[in-house]
Amino acid sequence: MNILVTGGTGYIGSHTCVELLNSNHSVVIVDNLINSKIETIDKIQEITGKDVVFYEKDVTNKESVDEIFSNHKFDGIIHFAGLKAVGESVSKPLDYYFNNLVSTMVLSKACIKYGVNKFVFSSSATVYGDNKVPFIETMELLKTTNPYGETKAMSERILTDTSLANSEFSVALLRYFNPVGAHESGLIGESPNGIPNNLMPFVSKVAKGELKKLSIFGDDYNTVDGTGVRDYIHVVDLAIGHVSAIEKLNSGVNVYNLGTGKGTSVLEIVNAFKEVNKIDIPYEIVERRPGDIASCYADANKAKKELNWEAKKDINEMVRDSWRFEKNYNI
Ligand code: NAD
Ligand code: UDP
Repeated sequence: MNILVTGGTGYIGSHTCVELLNSNHSVVIVDNLINSKIETIDKIQEITGKDVVFYEKDVTNKESVDEIFSNHKFDGIIHFAGLKAVGESVSKPLDYYFNNLVSTMVLSKACIKYGVNKFVFSSSATVYGDNKVPFIETMELLKTTNPYGETKAMSERILTDTSLANSEFSVALLRYFNPVGAHESGLIGESPNGIPNNLMPFVSKVAKGELKKLSIFGDDYNTVDGTGVRDYIHVVDLAIGHVSAIEKLNSGVNVYNLGTGKGTSVLEIVNAFKEVNKIDIPYEIVERRPGDIASCYADANKAKKELNWEAKKDINEMVRDSWRFEKNYNI
């Protein structure tokens, strides 16, 4: 297949491009580089030994998207491009609603116009809100606690309605749990701007000595050790899940959790990082972070059954690969 990957120089997009190329698909990337670097294109090509076509364009811009669709014949699109910082979405809601919703609408419209009938979308487990774990695709979605989460719930609605109105247009809504880790080459990984908000990049910066200590947000949750529990998934497993989703896409709207089905606490992550990488992670327990839930993990059976996909890498591989990338990056 010839696949358009929006946000393909970003964290999950770059790993997915590698797996698509490894599976002999061809890839056209569009990214405006607002949260990624042009060098990632060379890294993707270096890892795979294959070429990609790259457009530095904004996918909220209808003319730019039209130009790309008229230059290529695509079999499908994987739409990663979006803004993703939860805290920033609270202070800049309009930027988030505009970027994340307009991009989904402009790209869907182009798909209908140019007859591109496979659309894979990056959604998030955040759409489940504070449901009872494990989260399963058939659950009623609960209110999200921030504009970022709303953009994911709304994009799911937009794509669902578009598919209902256009029977040829097939959609996969992939609800990611907590992607961590990096490609084993150490060439690509997650490199957030400024001080990281997410646990694993923060722990990696503490390990590197760039940040003094980790603040653990609460140890009084009703969980195994009182700290928050999440379903961490290796980004390479997640990337392979996209290849399965686009190759096996059924008609209509298909919702899949992409997680491991296993919850891990903050302290368990910290201890695994220390043991596997033989490095100390100083931490202190602080107040709960507003908006956080106690536990979030997937029922991962649907993807296994329908996509023949399941996550294979464990927590030790996740902390090892996160640290390998952190050491290689920015030196
Ligand atoms: P990322 O920021 O690394 O990648 C997103 C890419 O999109 C970046 O390269 C950015 O430059 C690009 N981009 C943003 N707006 C654009 C626009 N208007 N036009 C063109 N390019 C644009 O983020 P990621 O972690 O790789 O996430 C990819 C997708 O997965 C996002 O939609 C995100 O919301 C979703 N997601 C991520 C996580 C996570 O924890 N990383 C969890 C659930 C869902
Ligand atoms: N967390 C923490 N300290 C940090 C960042 C995160 O204790 O500096 C905790 C957070 O409270 C949650 C877990 O780590 O229980 C995962 O948080 P992250 O922001 O990575 O993902 P999300 O909350 O979006 O699932």
